[in-house]
Amino acid sequence: MKYICMNCNKEYSPAPELIKCTCGSALWVKPTSSFSKNDLIGNEFTFLRYSNAFPIKKHDIQVSFNNPITPLTQAELSGVPILVKMDSLQPTGSFKDRGAVLVINYLKNHGINSIAEDSSGNGGSAYAGYAAKGKMECNIFVPAGTSLGKTTQTRLYGANCIEITGTREDVATAAMESTKTHGSYYVGHNWYPLFIEGVKSIAYEIWEQCGYKAPDNFVVPAGNGSLLAGAYLGFSELLKSGEIDKLPRLFGVQSEGVQPFVQVFNNTDIEITSLNTIAEGIKIQRSSRLKEIVEFVRGSKGCFISVSEQQIQLALKEMGSQGYFIEPTSATAFAGIAHLLKTGEINAKEVTVGVITGNGLKATNTIEHLINVLID
Ligand SMILES: *Cc1c(COP(=O)(O)O)cnc(C)c1O
Ligand SMILES: [Zn+2]
Repeated sequence: MKYICMNCNKEYSPAPELIKCTCGSALWVKPTSSFSKNDLIGNEFTFLRYSNAFPIKKHDIQVSFNNPITPLTQAELSGVPILVKMDSLQPTGSFKDRGAVLVINYLKNHGINSIAEDSSGNGGSAYAGYAAKGKMECNIFVPAGTSLGKTTQTRLYGANCIEITGTREDVATAAMESTKTHGSYYVGHNWYPLFIEGVKSIAYEIWEQCGYKAPDNFVVPAGNGSLLAGAYLGFSELLKSGEIDKLPRLFGVQSEGVQPFVQVFNNTDIEITSLNTIAEGIKIQRSSRLKEIVEFVRGSKGCFISVSEQQIQLALKEMGSQGYFIEPTSATAFAGIAHLLKTGEINAKEVTVGVITGNGLKATNTIEHLINVLID
């Protein structure tokens, strides 16, 4: 395995403490191969089915919950059938499990026993869960006011959960600084190169679940963009091997107040107008991989869009009424699909997958405040 900077093309040999290029950009695992049906481990029905696509091989993965392949199910938005990828059923309740499991195993294999991470909540609870399983010390820095569901979960796993007053970027700085005095390793999921390698698995699962085809559209909430990046890289490997004949169009959905991806995609300046959104998982003012991910989305012929708080609430309700208890952050994806259908950007006959990125139980406090508005 090698790391590469997509900004200046410099290559590095991986090391546990290595997270950034000398030019300041994020590092990526250097793409090596394509992925095809022959690479599936046929008698595995856990995430290890796809372990040939990971830079860490099956026998080196010691710490896991035998992570499941999550269901792809049918739902409807304004009468249009869509497919729903239920990553709320990951062991710690969000898609962040996909990345955290690889990072934790890499560190464990290097004899590391203490980590620090910054998170809006789910990345932290995911790392805390795997650290608990692997008997590692874990320090999670979150913004003050993070959902109680996520901080309580993190603390129950035995991690130190430190709440920081300030922006999401202040929280990241606090986590990085802490490693200097604490002897721990920084594993921030927005920076750590191996995190995205694990997220690629969502693409292989959907490909298998769609009958070895790519869907037409793949729609997710976008914060740092790791889910978009993982999906792009996973589907690209399938394209390279000829397993699919085109990439799905990738769509990243943001809230109106915090929409840096939308602004950069449309060649306008980044302007944050309000941090006051119920989509707490995507309040990121500047992704560590912004330029690269904008290019991935362009390359897939998709785009970034933003939705209002009201659209997010309506989507939360519409999904709830069909039996999906989802995080308000995840509701942005479904608000986005409704919006894309309405504007004609995507079409009712196409196969569109939306991802439930996080379980509603994590944000019961937020949803409780909305319930009188939502249920008439
Ligand atoms: C982290 C998170 C996101 C955003 O994912 P990125 O990879 O940062 O774009 C979306 N939804 C939920 C529930 C999350 O926890
Ligand atoms: Zn560089």
